[in-house]
Amino acid sequence: MSVRIRFWGVRGSIPVPGPTTLRYGGNTPCVELRENGNVFICDSGTGIRELGVKLFKEFAGRPMEADVFITHTHWDHIQGWPFFLPAYGPKNRMRIHSAHGVGAGFEEIFRSQMAHNFFPVEVNDMAAKLEFIRVDRPFEARGVPVGVIFTNHPGVDVGYRFEFSGASVVYLTDHECNRALGGEQDFYSGQDRLVAEFCKGCDLLICDAQYDDEDYKIKRGWGHSRWRDTVRLAVESKVKRLALFHHEPTRSDDGIDKTVEQSKALAKGLGGAFELFAAKEGQELEL
Ligand SMILES: [Zn+2]
Ligand SMILES: [Zn+2]
Repeated sequence: MSVRIRFWGVRGSIPVPGPTTLRYGGNTPCVELRENGNVFICDSGTGIRELGVKLFKEFAGRPMEADVFITHTHWDHIQGWPFFLPAYGPKNRMRIHSAHGVGAGFEEIFRSQMAHNFFPVEVNDMAAKLEFIRVDRPFEARGVPVGVIFTNHPGVDVGYRFEFSGASVVYLTDHECNRALGGEQDFYSGQDRLVAEFCKGCDLLICDAQYDDEDYKIKRGWGHSRWRDTVRLAVESKVKRLALFHHEPTRSDDGIDKTVEQSKALAKGLGGAFELFAAKEGQELEL
């Protein structure tokens, strides 16, 4: 059974529509994973709006079930939710997974973005049946084993590993390489080993690669990895494919092309034998 993947939003931090981001896209994170009738959605950044329109047409009034996996509640990962059309369909049912937040539960934080001070419609006004599920350990979603790892990011953020029958997919954003942040001491390298173990041998790693060395000079500790750290992780984990993801909002299409070339050269130099690309809005893959 093959897994179909489509990127609906690949940009980090803030949507950046405009002439310099046309090829890779300006919407914030949302990835659709489909296998065996299951509808899995990673994050509900602004990319989820277009996905919602597509699903609305695809299901054409038939009931839809979906599992939504939210990494964390930073704006760029939840701000498309109020515009997700299937959430307004009374026959639809969605399970929304994420970890407990800082000082409040995920459901409470997620709902608060649609409180009246921020948005005219509340989560309770959405007609679909919504179930909020707290994750902090491996679990199963519609028969698919799902691994969970807490990432190195301000607040609370989780990465997911989906063991589909046909392929394994790791969705790991937002995450800062521990050694880049803290040096090579045991604690930081040990944390990175856990991350590498989590990603080990997967068919596709979709991973935060927001920064380059220049960005990192001023944004160290902000919770994102440089592309070189992400390439190193992919080499250590022996993944089959690496999708650079959560692109820096100030990076133009040409800048991302350059990052891909540099990343390929580094991967080759480190002996990595995997396919590498920068995720593009609208891009589809079949594994
Ligand atoms: Zn983000
Ligand atoms: Zn974040």
